Amino acid sequence: MPNIENTYYPQSGFLVVLGAGESGIGAAILGKEKGFDVFVSDKGVIATSFEETLVYESIAFEQGQHSVDKILRADLIVKSPGIPEHAPLITQLKASGVLVISEIEFAAQYTDATLYCITGSNGKSTTTMLTYHMLQKGGVNIGLAGNIGKSFALQVARENFDVYVLEISSFMLDDMYHFRADVAVLLNVTPDHLDRYDHKIENYIASKFRIIRNQRESDYFIYCADDELTVQGLAEYKTDATYLPFTQLGDVQVGAHLDGSNNIIINVPNKDTFTMNIEELSLQGKHNVYNNMASGLIAKVQELRNQTMKESMESYVNIPHRLEHVACIGGVNYINDSKGTNVNSVWYALESFSPDIVLIMGGVDKGNDYEMLRDLVKTKVKAIVCIGKDSTRIHESFEDDTDVIVNASSMKDAVEISSYLAKKGDTVLLSPACASFDWFKNFEERGDKFKEAVMSL
Ligand code: ADP
Repeated sequence: MPNIENTYYPQSGFLVVLGAGESGIGAAILGKEKGFDVFVSDKGVIATSFEETLVYESIAFEQGQHSVDKILRADLIVKSPGIPEHAPLITQLKASGVLVISEIEFAAQYTDATLYCITGSNGKSTTTMLTYHMLQKGGVNIGLAGNIGKSFALQVARENFDVYVLEISSFMLDDMYHFRADVAVLLNVTPDHLDRYDHKIENYIASKFRIIRNQRESDYFIYCADDELTVQGLAEYKTDATYLPFTQLGDVQVGAHLDGSNNIIINVPNKDTFTMNIEELSLQGKHNVYNNMASGLIAKVQELRNQTMKESMESYVNIPHRLEHVACIGGVNYINDSKGTNVNSVWYALESFSPDIVLIMGGVDKGNDYEMLRDLVKTKVKAIVCIGKDSTRIHESFEDDTDVIVNASSMKDAVEISSYLAKKGDTVLLSPACASFDWFKNFEERGDKFKEAVMSL
């Protein structure tokens, strides 16, 4: 039965799912299970495994086109986060008054599970996985969904979890209206995807703050008090939830901070205090201290035992492509940070290593402003090796900051040039600051090619 309190949309009729990816297929299956007449439409080619699922589930679909007249007859549309708000079809649908929502918004109506929701420009996957790891270790019956793993809708349809940890991107948030997070986490807000937000940072901040919409007094809002744009947003967007800030710069009574000896101190009202030294964390680097604080705050809300939290934070192994150590060859460390897809994440990557660094970067530039990297490049980077179709902006931005900037013709070429430039004790770091799809299918393929090239040196 639908959770009546959370039911805002038609509960029967014609449901159209736009985009047949992981989230779309899940939404279609859940929709069918709830009694909708479901139609899936994808303008591209549907992956074979998803096509097979649709056939198996007897769900009608089309690919390579959108049958606009049919889609316009929908009672409700679930849109893939990959389809931009400004796509002509979406504009047309909205102008005609058709309801367009995200898969998360759709699925949330049909579950009473507690929802821990993590958003931010950087650190989402790491924090989501770490939280999942920790709560699972604590014996919580927990599902992992959102931007990661199996779709939320599919799990709502087929599983019976008490709690979900959801990684939520701003594209998902844009189509969420009634959704309510029991715990909302905003890790940081730094310029990314601005092409989808009319190049206005305020629009992007607004999107991220949608995570706290509808929160109530009994809920929690976890955020980074050191993050400038988050603080800017806090002045404008309010919630009734309990605020749990985390910081590395000051002290907080409630929330998480560092004491004078680099111990993380976590305090959530009416729960016992958690303490752990940052040296003991399995994920190192300043950014990961933030990620651990955020996950730790969630775990405290969930009343996990301090010992379980500590063991989890000590043992967690991060998912690949995030500052992943690949190999040490001839005294040179090779690091795969292919998921470093914006300028801010590259800043944290550079911050995590000592000089000298050979930095492999480039790809599809999302309107990057490289200014914030210049000081770190000046002090730590001995050479930049550019990948991707067009490296003009990288050359222009760093020509005064490092001696060598060269273009590579492939990832293999980039790794070979880097190995030639690096000396014993140096680090070769792939942290591109850009999207990957000029040369690669996605950031995973880019990282895998890097690892392959390193291993064949
Ligand atoms: P997301 O899912 O938000 O893209 P990931 O956890 O996959 O984030 O991490 C992507 C990259 O961002 C990492 O490789 C790292 O360089 C950087 N990063 C991770 N956590 C943070 C953070 N809290 N603040 C800034 N940068 C971070």
